[in-house]
Amino acid sequence: MKPFSALLAVALSIQTAATVQTRRLVLENVRIIDGSGAAPIEHGRIIIDGDRIVRAGPAATTAAPAGAETVDLAGRTVIPGLIDSHFHIEKDPKLALRQLAHGVTAFRDPGQWDEAFEELRRMMAADGIPGPRIFTTGPHIDGEGPAYPADSVVARDAEEARRHAEESVKRGASALKIYYRLPFASAKAVIDVCDAHRIPCTAHLELLDARELIAAGLHGIEHITSFGVSLVPRREAEAYRQAVLKNNDARRDGRYRVFAGADLDGPQAHALYGVFRERRPFLDATLAVFERRPGMPDTQPDLAAIQVAGFAKMKQLAHRAAKEGARVVVGGHTEVPFAARGEAPWREIELLVESGFTPLEAISAATSTAAAFLYRSTELGRIRPGFSADLVVLRGQPDRDVSGIRTVERVMVAGRWIDVARYREY
Ligand SMILES: [Zn+2]
Repeated sequence: MKPFSALLAVALSIQTAATVQTRRLVLENVRIIDGSGAAPIEHGRIIIDGDRIVRAGPAATTAAPAGAETVDLAGRTVIPGLIDSHFHIEKDPKLALRQLAHGVTAFRDPGQWDEAFEELRRMMAADGIPGPRIFTTGPHIDGEGPAYPADSVVARDAEEARRHAEESVKRGASALKIYYRLPFASAKAVIDVCDAHRIPCTAHLELLDARELIAAGLHGIEHITSFGVSLVPRREAEAYRQAVLKNNDARRDGRYRVFAGADLDGPQAHALYGVFRERRPFLDATLAVFERRPGMPDTQPDLAAIQVAGFAKMKQLAHRAAKEGARVVVGGHTEVPFAARGEAPWREIELLVESGFTPLEAISAATSTAAAFLYRSTELGRIRPGFSADLVVLRGQPDRDVSGIRTVERVMVAGRWIDVARYREY
């Protein structure tokens, strides 16, 4: 006779099979933007079984299973769930749920202790919702005099950096993040740990030279401002480095001055593009956090003009980087000057379009490319058979007018609809 546990397992598997069968869902009459960058499918059909997409394509060639639940979404556009590659949870887990209601079904927090996610996980469990999908990195790995002491571990040499990196991986980090005070050899040690565990290593560089770090194997870069010292002549770069080494806050205005004066067709910039073409790093530009517009309050004479000029150059570089081979993703960066609460990822998508990306390219940045940066490109970020059923239903057509990204009507994670109205209040 089989032990009770084995019988129970059989009973459960039968029950699971039955549950899965009753959860077949057909989304009918949809426009599909599949996240790959391909043109929309105008008269599409999506078939979901449990937590997966099983078929998606033109209705004429995509058979609907008999007896499945059908939702008529005539006039709506469906895109893959958005992935926010740069979201700081801080002490505000509700914000992650508000972003979920805005279509953000997954996020990566690029530098935080694991304890900070406990409350969000508790809220998700209490509500019985399968998302947002949370990708953690552990705290920043920074050098002495860290930029954000409370969110960092400090490594004083390469061996300490390696140990911190191994510890974060052991605790479940799905990526690691280098912070700019880490010296080169220590940064390289962190990259090597990531390679050994097959997870991406990303970085806020600012003081480290992107050309050297990318050539040394760095997979991703957070913030367009990470390229400042790679764009200007060595003497100017060194003056900026020393100013920030002396005082971390010197970067806040200093980076706009560096960018305002940078030549995006100079020899330094071309050396950077050469590394982009060779290594194809991910770039999480986080333009929205740096956005400056004419008419913003000016604390110092002429600073506002320099900020506006510097920001314009940052947008140009984001687009140029993509043309040169960098794989641009979308990081909302939580709270930004020109977006309401929870709307930073939408703003980032709009700013990519303002920078020269097509709306479809910007949507790919927030879906399939972001999934690739999570090293989850075979399960997330596309509307394709076998992928997770993480979907956003829009009233608007963001491929025609990117602001359509803001017209979220329904959100699905792992095959289940989220109570959008509820979490919009968070
Ligand atoms: Zn950040």
